[in-house]
Amino acid sequence: MRIAFSALIALFALCFSSAYAQDAAPQWSLAIHGGAGVIERSSLTPEQDAAYRAALQGALDAGSAVLKGGGSALDAVEAAVQVMEDDPLFNAGRGAVFTAAGRNELDAAVMNGSDLTAGSVAGLTTTRHPIAAARAVMEKSPHVMLIGTGADAFAASVGLEQVDPAFFFTERRWQGLVKALTEAGQPIPERPVGAPLPGAQAEIAPPLNEKKFGTVGAVALDSQGRLAAATSTGGMTAKRWGRVGDVPIIGAGTYASNADGCAVSATGDGEYFIRATVARDICARIAGGAATQAAGQAEIADAERLGGKGGVIVMGLDGRPAFAMSTSGMYRGAVSSTDPARVAIYADEP
Ligand code: ASP
Repeated sequence: MRIAFSALIALFALCFSSAYAQDAAPQWSLAIHGGAGVIERSSLTPEQDAAYRAALQGALDAGSAVLKGGGSALDAVEAAVQVMEDDPLFNAGRGAVFTAAGRNELDAAVMNGSDLTAGSVAGLTTTRHPIAAARAVMEKSPHVMLIGTGADAFAASVGLEQVDPAFFFTERRWQGLVKALTEAGQPIPERPVGAPLPGAQAEIAPPLNEKKFGTVGAVALDSQGRLAAATSTGGMTAKRWGRVGDVPIIGAGTYASNADGCAVSATGDGEYFIRATVARDICARIAGGAATQAAGQAEIADAERLGGKGGVIVMGLDGRPAFAMSTSGMYRGAVSSTDPARVAIYADEP
């Protein structure tokens, strides 16, 4: 009887503590993505699956270290995105996809929800961390969006690391370009100057669809209640004529507003995400009373009706992240002051 009673008390304590953990609003919270697309269990070997999960964990660690120490949502999203820009697994920074001309042209944006300041860059070719360049546009220039050589020159002028364009080269993305151009019957450009010799990079093999994998993004709430969003990408394989996607367009692939109570970073078919003004519309839905999950899902459905697939991560003022996608997978992760870090890849994972 005595044992049964203590078991009952223990059970009660357990229920109470888990209910408490569920109810307590996180003081800070971070969510990230590493791109959405046709990602099925059969697409990845166990080694590739593990490599992506480890890379996502590394980005969560970098962002959460900032938030844990009382740092800003802005610093956290930049830190998480920089880790993924440096990781050749993702289509951002090193590891970006190639244009039809055989170049890496990088786009990025950042937005500060507490004052609606924003910065973005498109078509960078020499700045190692495009997200840092976007932030510098926001904080150190009178402009919101800079493109091409001017954007790289600005980044250099504020002291951001410049690299040889070959720094961004990865064999898997080059092979992805060769395949895409071959299928489209288009000419294959010369291998970039300074690229390693074929076979020199011992990397994990590419997954199936190389056209639009691995754009990266982060959304965060900090302990002072500020929201921020950041996104960085190489765009789409074999893009042409100076093509710019949704990522650096404020309100399409990236948006944050404390007044609306949201921070959004998107990944997917950029042309459709631009036309559906995905990120801004999610915030408008939330401002109108929708839950973060419902707002994300509704907007992803709108983009899909136009013909575009992809995913979004959404952070609300309650610090509970939402993930919505119309694809079979999205590399993603979340961590908060109340919830341990978790990473996921396939759509059916919690
Ligand atoms: N949205 C990106 C773009 O269109 C691509 C992606 O997310 O994979 O540039």
